[in-house]
Amino acid sequence: MKLSELKKRLRESEQQYQSLVHFNPNAIFILTRSGSFLHVNPATTNITGQPEEVLLKMNFENLVNVEERPLARQNFRLALNGEANTFEIELMHQTGQSLFANVTLMPNQIDGNIEGVIGIAQDITKRKLAELKISKIANEDALTQLPNRRYVLDSLEVAIKQAKKVKQQIAVLFIDLDRFKLVNDTLGHFFGDHALKMIAERLKKGLSSKDVLARMGGDEFIVYLPELTSPLMATDVAERILKIIRKPLIVDGYEFTITACIGIAIFPDNGSTAESLIRSADAAMYRAKANGSDGFELYNRNMNEDISKLFNVENDLRKALERNEFKLYFQPQFDTRTGKLCGEEVLVRWNHPDNGLLSPSRFISIAEETGLIIPIGDWILREACKQKASWIHAGYPNVPMSVNISSRQFLQVRFVHFIETILEETGLPPEYLDLEVTESVAIDIERTLGVLTKLTQLGIHISLDDFGTGYSSLQYISQLPIQELKIDQSFVQGIGKGQNSEEIIAMIINLAHLLKLFVIAEGVETKEQLHYLANQGCDRIQGFLHSEPLSIEHYEQFLKLQQ
Ligand code: C2E
Ligand code: CA
Ligand code: CA
Repeated sequence: MKLSELKKRLRESEQQYQSLVHFNPNAIFILTRSGSFLHVNPATTNITGQPEEVLLKMNFENLVNVEERPLARQNFRLALNGEANTFEIELMHQTGQSLFANVTLMPNQIDGNIEGVIGIAQDITKRKLAELKISKIANEDALTQLPNRRYVLDSLEVAIKQAKKVKQQIAVLFIDLDRFKLVNDTLGHFFGDHALKMIAERLKKGLSSKDVLARMGGDEFIVYLPELTSPLMATDVAERILKIIRKPLIVDGYEFTITACIGIAIFPDNGSTAESLIRSADAAMYRAKANGSDGFELYNRNMNEDISKLFNVENDLRKALERNEFKLYFQPQFDTRTGKLCGEEVLVRWNHPDNGLLSPSRFISIAEETGLIIPIGDWILREACKQKASWIHAGYPNVPMSVNISSRQFLQVRFVHFIETILEETGLPPEYLDLEVTESVAIDIERTLGVLTKLTQLGIHISLDDFGTGYSSLQYISQLPIQELKIDQSFVQGIGKGQNSEEIIAMIINLAHLLKLFVIAEGVETKEQLHYLANQGCDRIQGFLHSEPLSIEHYEQFLKLQQ
């Protein structure tokens, strides 16, 4: 080839190369061995927003987001050592905004020497932002903006790996709100959603920034605590969460209280994967539910067995009505002053084919969660009224009978109609029927006021059960057309134990009398308790001291002795 031909080719190749660099939509730049810009193409300016003359006075690291500079430096060094590398990195645009780039750094080799680094950077900001948005949507719960189930499963796996390395424990807390269905069913989903949002907000504020809080769906939340030093830490957090949830909520002018149950599982003892830990925590939560509301349980091995038993409870409960397995027990109530019989409370028992006579604490909360409480409660009410009518007919003492009514049952649309039908069917005069409702009926105060007013007009009495353990305001209580407050047995059991139970009891009795209501104390087991209550002016008492709940046959014998 002639020299002139060679020169021409060289010139062409040079110009092709320049076009390739000049018109390239990607930033192409040459860096010195210390990382300063030596040459930049127009796209470098377009992408970074920095004019060429500014860039030529800059070190490339200054364009990189501070946190990612080590990554940039590492790849720069590799290029200086003769290795080309491609990586994604966050840069800063001249305006200060984030910019994502796919960068390749390669050695700038001239005559066998590495003189510096050549870089190509593609602007991938649009794609990256779309990715981030998708991952946010995929990992976030739409209602509460908390991380969701998917996020928990992924991030918990990562935390487990880390904990294995440094030999640390992790606690997983499974939180399930109590009777949340009641809120949704009676107040509507809008209201329920609002309540969930408020609870999520409070939990977020109340937990430490290291704890991970997520919503699993429905009324279930997860909190996990990485870097756990002792299981005690987990139970402390559980108590704190219960306290946070239990604080009254005000939605739409309604004040009401929600409680929750929590199950706790610890890594590595109760599971080695995110799935298995959550499953264990769920089993422990189920156990907490079976013990009643507003509590927590630590997982133990027997619980897997328990949980299959609990599932049987649900299945068996469905069949129990047809199989006639429920039995009514009656516990007498006495006038404190005269010592005479003044009423009785109906308490249900479940005569389970395999497990024998079960106390309601074993199944009422499950019946409430599943909604089975409605047919079961209806059955109890009908049977109790039938029984009572026959006793009155037979000339047994004319005292009223109290029946416990679950809030879900009470807040049913046709509840008043149902009561009327039963009174008609059984022929029981309404003055012999007293319904025990708990403060949780105040969840829908308007409706409750309406229902209670109608029931009172029918001639039925209403007692407020477990008084003092709910958290509804006194303002509600004073509005309700009720006749009796029932002091919860937890206060009675605190008498003489130096707790503040005595003060609370004295307060409840004063309050009741101020509102012209009767007061009854339940769970009276000792003479000491009886004397304290009598001295405070408590009108009626009920408890083992006088009599345990009795089966129909035994209660009839008891009634005969009263005549
Ligand atoms: P409750 O309404 O607070 O009923 C009082 C509970 O205290 C009963 O437990 C009773 O057996 C127990 N008790 C009575 N005297 C004493 C005493 O002196 N000491 C102690 N330690 N306990 C005493 P039970 O029968 O196990 O009922 C537990 C709960 O189950 C009831 O609490 C009530 O909330 C619910 N329940 C019972 N029967 C029914 C029912 O027919 N319908 C509904 N919805 N709930 C019911
Ligand atoms: Ca009761
Ligand atoms: Ca009670």
